[in-house]
Amino acid sequence: MPTQVAKVLIDGPSELVFDYAIPENLDDVSIGCRVRIPLRNRNSTGTVLEITPAPQSDFTLRPLHSLIDPEPLITPGLMKLGKWLADYYGSPMELVMRALLPESVRQDAHSEKTQKVVVLENLPDDETLQKLAKRAPKQHVILILLKSAIQSGGQISIKDLGGGAVTASVKSLEKKGYVTIKHESVRRDPDADQEFLETKALKLNPEQEVALTEILKTPENDEPKKPILLHGVTGSGKTEVYLQAVQHHIDKGQTALVLVPEISLTPQTVQRFKSRFAALQDQVAVLHSHLSQGERFDEWHRIRKGKARIVIGARSAIFAPLKDLGIIIVDEEHENTYKQETSPRYHGRDIAVLRAHLENCTIVLGSATPSLESFQNTQTGKYQLVKLVHRADHQTMPIIRVLDMKLEAQKQKGRDAILSDKLRVSMETKLKNGEQVILFLNRRGFARSLQCPPCGHVCECQHCAIPLTYHKGDERLVCHMCGYQTITPRKCPECGDKDIRLQGFGTEKVEKIIQKVFPQSRIARIDADTMRKKNALRDTLAKFKANKIDIIIGTQMIAKGLHFPNVTLVGILNADLGLHVPDFRAGERTFQLITQVAGRAGRGELEGEVVIQTFTPHSPSIQFARHHDFEGYAEQELQFRRQFQFPPFAHVALLGTRSTHERRAEFTLENIHKRLKKNLPPHIELGEPLPSPLTKAHGQFRYQLMLKSTSARELSRYIRDILKQTPPPEDVNIIFDMDALSFF
Ligand code: ADP
Ligand code: ZN
Repeated sequence: MPTQVAKVLIDGPSELVFDYAIPENLDDVSIGCRVRIPLRNRNSTGTVLEITPAPQSDFTLRPLHSLIDPEPLITPGLMKLGKWLADYYGSPMELVMRALLPESVRQDAHSEKTQKVVVLENLPDDETLQKLAKRAPKQHVILILLKSAIQSGGQISIKDLGGGAVTASVKSLEKKGYVTIKHESVRRDPDADQEFLETKALKLNPEQEVALTEILKTPENDEPKKPILLHGVTGSGKTEVYLQAVQHHIDKGQTALVLVPEISLTPQTVQRFKSRFAALQDQVAVLHSHLSQGERFDEWHRIRKGKARIVIGARSAIFAPLKDLGIIIVDEEHENTYKQETSPRYHGRDIAVLRAHLENCTIVLGSATPSLESFQNTQTGKYQLVKLVHRADHQTMPIIRVLDMKLEAQKQKGRDAILSDKLRVSMETKLKNGEQVILFLNRRGFARSLQCPPCGHVCECQHCAIPLTYHKGDERLVCHMCGYQTITPRKCPECGDKDIRLQGFGTEKVEKIIQKVFPQSRIARIDADTMRKKNALRDTLAKFKANKIDIIIGTQMIAKGLHFPNVTLVGILNADLGLHVPDFRAGERTFQLITQVAGRAGRGELEGEVVIQTFTPHSPSIQFARHHDFEGYAEQELQFRRQFQFPPFAHVALLGTRSTHERRAEFTLENIHKRLKKNLPPHIELGEPLPSPLTKAHGQFRYQLMLKSTSARELSRYIRDILKQTPPPEDVNIIFDMDALSFF
């Protein structure tokens, strides 16, 4: 009787998981191994996900056939990381394995791409050649081409020789012994169409010098190196520091991993890495979601074989199979996109810190607006704080002006107050000088709140002081924390104005207005709708850089790491929109957004100006951002978080149900809530089950509740135990989001 069972993820589109007995002769099977297995009446292949002791009673399991590769695809270090992930985020190992190994690597359907090349073996004498020219001109041409390619090895791919049209001729030549045909593997290079010119390292300024020294310092007495939080204002030259730190570890023969929030949104960062390491050519691998399966397969294997030693990628690149890792860099570490929104719901930054710890390598978290989680870790001494307080090129920080749109709304009575007079005049001046303008629109979520333009009043919950959320179906305002409900008022409860309405206007509307006001200007709009096509963003930004566009109107997509020397004015059209959402991080996000967007202004010789339009000019996130005061902001925000026991002082988990049957989503969550409440450990705080602010999405109704605890492990284990005892009905899905960042 077998003593062990392997759970195998079967190759193929349906990705089934079945148990197999491990026969005695295959006792070196381990997790992550590729195996051959019997499946119904045929043979199939798959990946071992888990190995468990065999249950006593089970005699029916079929045994594994054999191992495909002797070595598992996953390194022991990554395996450890995966197990931690499964435990902390309460995700089945099966889903963790899918995150660890891309499908194209796991499944047999993909393999190296090869091409046929024709190699010149011996060239016939001139007489034979001349005869050939008459009788078989095609063969003659091929030989001449190969002859001229002798310098480069005397070989040409069949494709380059003309593909199908020449195969017969090549075969004849092969028969005569003049050439041979070889199979050669070719790399599918996602950036094959781009050329990167090598850039040299810049001479660091004193601040950068200190930062680099701290990053490269090895701690005494074999102590583990603390993670470094590099807090550098926008334009302070963080990227240059990353580049030189990476160079250092590459020179030592190690490897480097650079995480960016989203590859398609940070084309300039990727370009700077590709250019700096252009001499290393193929040693830089870029991993992102637009890769084809074949490209992903090639990049992954290049990394695993040690051919690519620098990896740049978004969140999931944290699982890149690099060996001898010297440094991990997490750029813009505060970004939400590092959190995966499907199971396993891991945070790429947190996993990066863990991986650095497990593999004993350096880790740098960089940002102009660090997350309060990371900043608090520097206050407790868990992380080391390194600061860059000046812009690298000695530019001053841009001047930030805050405009009260309440006054503007009075002036523009009857119209939508979208563009203030002040911003319009500023735009006119800059455009006249041939300078460029970015207009930014905060468009976060759908949790819409009600605001009165004349007085700025926002409808809030009487009990919780967070904005009420408008629910479209029944025209109600609902508090997302406590469940308080009220009907939507027809006029402002504060000043009686009938103009009270849902906040917000779209990029499209702004574009129309701007076109009317500036008919001579060349305008581009950047949002999820206009940037669907591959490379659309890259191309638009290139045009902007080449001064072929005067005004860019964009959403969050343009808030990140872009560098345009000729942009002297940034307008933030609706700075408060993100403030009035039912989320304790709303203020932090608004602060980050304003700071990041403002950082796009004045990055060249010319001084920058930022205009913030807002209905709540005195909110702390706007005022501290205006004064470029991150630490001031962090101090008061951390006070609030401590008082209400919100992260980073506690861990928050979100538990949700989703179903096409509203009642069942509701009942299931109420049932879970009852069980959670029963023996609730003293350190865990339990919220009420409520409809989600986004009540329905993708045809499914959503209910949710929140839990809080100072101990993440305890919280996670408790929730998982209860969930195990409370299996949901078949048509209800359970969402368990540990350290949730989104409460919709
Ligand atoms: P950050 O990543 O902090 O936003 P960047 O690395 O993009 O900042 O640097 C901003 C600008 O300053 C870039 O144009 C960069 O080339 C330039 N820069 C960075 N470091 C130096 C330096 N030591 N000397 C001169 N220019 C620098
Ligand atoms: Zn409330």
